[in-house]
Amino acid sequence: MRIHRQLCFLASLLLVIHAGPISQPSDKDETTAEHYLKSFYNLTDETDQRIVDRRESSQLTEKMKEMQKFFGFKVTGKLDSETMEMMKKPRCGVPDVAKYSTFEGNPKWQTNKLTYRIVNYTPHMSKAEVDDSMEKALQVWAKVTPVKFTRIYSGAADIMISFGTRYHGDAYPFDGPQGILAHAFAPSPGLGGDAHFDGDEFFTLRSSRGFVLFLVAAHEFGHSLGLAHSNIRGALMFPTYSFTDPDRFSLPYDDIRGIQSLYGPNRDSISIQPDPEVPTAPNACDPNLIMDAVTTLRGETMFFKDSFFWRSSPSRSVTQLQIKHFWLNAPNNIEAAYEDPVRDKLFFFKGRQVWAFNGITLESGYPKTLSSFGVSSLVRKICAAVHDTSSGKTLLFVEKVYYSYDERAKKMDRGYPQLVESGFPGMTGEVTAAHIANGFIYLYSGTNVFEFGLYSKKYFRVLKNSFFLPC
Ligand SMILES: [Zn+2]
Ligand SMILES: [Zn+2]
Repeated sequence: MRIHRQLCFLASLLLVIHAGPISQPSDKDETTAEHYLKSFYNLTDETDQRIVDRRESSQLTEKMKEMQKFFGFKVTGKLDSETMEMMKKPRCGVPDVAKYSTFEGNPKWQTNKLTYRIVNYTPHMSKAEVDDSMEKALQVWAKVTPVKFTRIYSGAADIMISFGTRYHGDAYPFDGPQGILAHAFAPSPGLGGDAHFDGDEFFTLRSSRGFVLFLVAAHEFGHSLGLAHSNIRGALMFPTYSFTDPDRFSLPYDDIRGIQSLYGPNRDSISIQPDPEVPTAPNACDPNLIMDAVTTLRGETMFFKDSFFWRSSPSRSVTQLQIKHFWLNAPNNIEAAYEDPVRDKLFFFKGRQVWAFNGITLESGYPKTLSSFGVSSLVRKICAAVHDTSSGKTLLFVEKVYYSYDERAKKMDRGYPQLVESGFPGMTGEVTAAHIANGFIYLYSGTNVFEFGLYSKKYFRVLKNSFFLPC
C-alpha cells in the first residue's frame, strides 16, 4: 500500500530530463529505440510474453509514430535513419508524451514568490560560474512573468537544484556521460520543481564543447514552472539540446507565450512583453503552409519560410535553421531564390532588391536592384525563381507571368514575359516558389506543389506543400 502510494505520487510529478548523444552500433538500434520510447513516449513493458509478441509490436509502432509526429518527421512507424538520428541527439529527459495530460488543468505554482537552493556543484565549473548560470537561467523566466526567485542556503526550497549521477535518490537514474543531461519536476510539493543535472556531463559556462549549463538549466526551469515540451524547433522547450551563445540568448516567442499562459506577463517591465519580432519557427506539417522560396545549394535543397529555412541534403536528415544564423546578411521573408551552380552563386529576392552569395558570403556590390537583371522597373517583386543548369536559363516568376533570363548573355530572353499558364499548361495560380529535381520542375502555388516535366513541360501530379519535408 505504501509502495503503491509512493508510485502514484511519483506518477503525479512531471519528469523532465536532458540527454546527450549516444553512440550505439546499428544492431543495437532497436534496443536504443525501445529504450527511447520507454523513456520519453510512455512505452510500457508487458510481462505476458504472448501479449508481448502481438501487442508490444503494435504499441512500439504506435509510439514510434507519436515520436515521428512530435518531431515533424514522416510518420511511418518504422525506425528509419532520420528517426534514429533524432533518438541519438542530446535532449531533455522529460517525456514528450506527458502522463499528466489526463490531469485537469496545467500544474503551476500558486505563488509568484519562489525559492531555490543550489545543493551541490559540478567539478567542471567554478562555484561562481554555476551560481551565475543558475541565476541567469531563472531570470530568463522571471523577466517575462511576475514570478520572483529568492535564493536560500539551507532547508527545503521550492526548486532544489542538484547534480547527481546514476541512481541519485529518485526513480529516474541518470545514464553516465552523454545521453540524458538533466531532468526536472513540474510544480508540486516535495520533489516538484526540483531540477537534477547529470553530474557525469561536461557542463560549461559558454563553450560549444560540452553542454552550456545556462541553456540546460533555463530549459529545466521551464519544466520547474510547469511548461512541457514544445515541438517548435528553436523554442527553448524543444526536447533536444542545441548550442546558442548564452550572451546572445533571447527567449523565443513560443516559450514566452507558454509561460505567460500560466503566470501572465511581467507588469514591471513592459519592454519585455512578447515581441512579435522574435520568430516562431514554421511547422512543416502545417497544412496551410505557403512556401516563400525554394532553391538548391551545392547539392542540398533549401526551403524558405518567414525567418527560417529547412535544409535538406541527400546524406543528412532535414534540419530547420534561422536564415540569419546561416546568412548573416540575408533578409528574412525571402520571396524568391535560385542557385547558379556554374558561377557558384546563390540569389535571394525580396521586393525590388536582389542579394548574391557565394556560399554564405555576400558578394560585394550586393544587394542590387532588380534592374540589374533587366527586369522592368514596373515589377515590384519576384515571386519565384529557378535556374536550369542544362539550358543556362533562369526563370523569374512575377504574378501570372514569367521571364527567362540568360545567365551567360546576362540579359532577358526575347519574347518574355509569357503567361505562366501558356508555359506550364494547367498552372493557373500564382507561383510562390520553384525548384528543379530529378528531371522535374516543381512549382509551388498556394498550399500545393505542381510537378511538371522539365523539358516536356507536361503536368504530372499535384503534391502537398510538405512533400519534400519531414512531416
Ligand atoms: Zn525538457
Ligand atoms: Zn533526479
